[in-house]
Amino acid sequence: MDASPTSHSIGRTITVLTSVSLAVSLVALGSFAGMQSLSRYVEQKQQGLVATAQIFASVAAPGARKGDTGEVLRAIRAIGKIESVVHARVETGGRVLASIGVVPQLSSDARLDETLVTEGVLAIMRSRTIEASAIIRDGGEPVGRFVLLAETEGLFAPLTTALASLFIAALISLGIGVSVAGQFRRQLLDPVIALLTSVRSLAASKEARALSAAIDAGELIPFYQPIFDRTGTVMAGVEVLVRWKKPGQGFVLPGDFVPLAEKTGLIGKLDAVLLRQACRDALAWPELTVNVNASAIVFQSAGFARRVLATLQAEGFPADRLMVELTESAFAGDSETLRGEIQALRQAGIAIALDDFGTGFSNLSYLQQFRFDEIKIDRTFVDKFDRSTDSAAIVTAIISMSRAIGMTIVAEGVERAEQHDLLSEAGVHYMQGFYFAKPMPAADIEARRQANRGAEAA
Ligand code: C2E
Ligand code: CA
Ligand code: CA
Repeated sequence: MDASPTSHSIGRTITVLTSVSLAVSLVALGSFAGMQSLSRYVEQKQQGLVATAQIFASVAAPGARKGDTGEVLRAIRAIGKIESVVHARVETGGRVLASIGVVPQLSSDARLDETLVTEGVLAIMRSRTIEASAIIRDGGEPVGRFVLLAETEGLFAPLTTALASLFIAALISLGIGVSVAGQFRRQLLDPVIALLTSVRSLAASKEARALSAAIDAGELIPFYQPIFDRTGTVMAGVEVLVRWKKPGQGFVLPGDFVPLAEKTGLIGKLDAVLLRQACRDALAWPELTVNVNASAIVFQSAGFARRVLATLQAEGFPADRLMVELTESAFAGDSETLRGEIQALRQAGIAIALDDFGTGFSNLSYLQQFRFDEIKIDRTFVDKFDRSTDSAAIVTAIISMSRAIGMTIVAEGVERAEQHDLLSEAGVHYMQGFYFAKPMPAADIEARRQANRGAEAA
């Protein structure tokens, strides 16, 4: 049956409108700057899972070598508690020695292995699970493979939201047509966006000006949290933690202003002021090492090492008493700059620590690549160490692996005597936490040093 000319032209119009809208939506999707950060997010999640597999591969190694199913199961039981892991298995000689969890029913394209991840965020969104694996080695010899499957749903929730809003935007332009959408945007959305942006930046710049003035006025001061040896009696060093002494408001914690400082670029100025003051205070404490935190964004800028060294020189502070703490986020950027900065610090005798280790599971390849002098096990692990055998298994694996590559281990956030005992037994070198001492002003460190000397003499 022939269609009427009118329905033909309506059909054509709809087809043209639909394809133009689709093309526009796709261009918008493709050029969306967030896509890059989304793939980085996926990549980081994937690396985290691979690192998890590596840690559990080392925990499972003794059992896998002996072919002892029971021992392997005990060693890997904790994995079920991690992120969105739904299944894990240990394979030796090509067969499954032990497994936990269910293998979800998957379509053939739903399994992804690590090499595929960077190829497409959308491919991951389609699939329901993500797979990561690590070779199990025993004394360097491969004895099997540790495989884990994680559900994408929990892992990629933020990603799903971002993509959903993109699709909604695409649907809007599809539904109301390109020109209407264009007008709608110009007449309604743009002024609203402009207004919101200016209100936000006004508020931010007001706070930023206040923070900047406070830095100049000397209101940002260092507190020091003692770091003790494994016996808990000898203070070996201090970590510098910034406090904002707001007139009439007491001490404001870094969580309330460091993010703003990072966003506005004030962090460089803040860190410099802190380092200078810390050098001045700690010159009087020759037996203590001094750990300072470096924001990823400052560390990634070329010249960081040069500026630190200039401060040390100006203050006459010995470089071999300083340790710079970096978090994993420092490794997300340009690794050439990072490598150069780390090398320059090292050459001058400054030590490097990896902070917050275990949050999202640091990619173990960083550990091999950069050879940190020290790793600091995050509080979230330490917190459960004496109460959960699962956390204990992970921390024990981290400790044995770190010791094997010659790194010093610090446990952060030790709050109870039981944690202290167990961590010390497990091989941690140093400890830090409210159980020993809270962050305190420079003057209070002096009193601690007296006690310290007493302990050393005893
Ligand atoms: P961080 O480097 O992980 O510092 C350790 C944080 O844990 C400190 O919080 C410390 O007060 C707290 N803490 C120590 N022991 C315990 C414990 O036993 N239990 C509990 N619940 N908490 C404990 P703070 O001082 O609020 O610092 C938070 C974060 O702000 C730091 O985390 C660090 O990332 C950042 N930060 C602090 N000072 C500076 C600074 O001068 N420059 C830069 N860039 N970042 C800083
Ligand atoms: Ca730190
Ligand atoms: Ca930390």
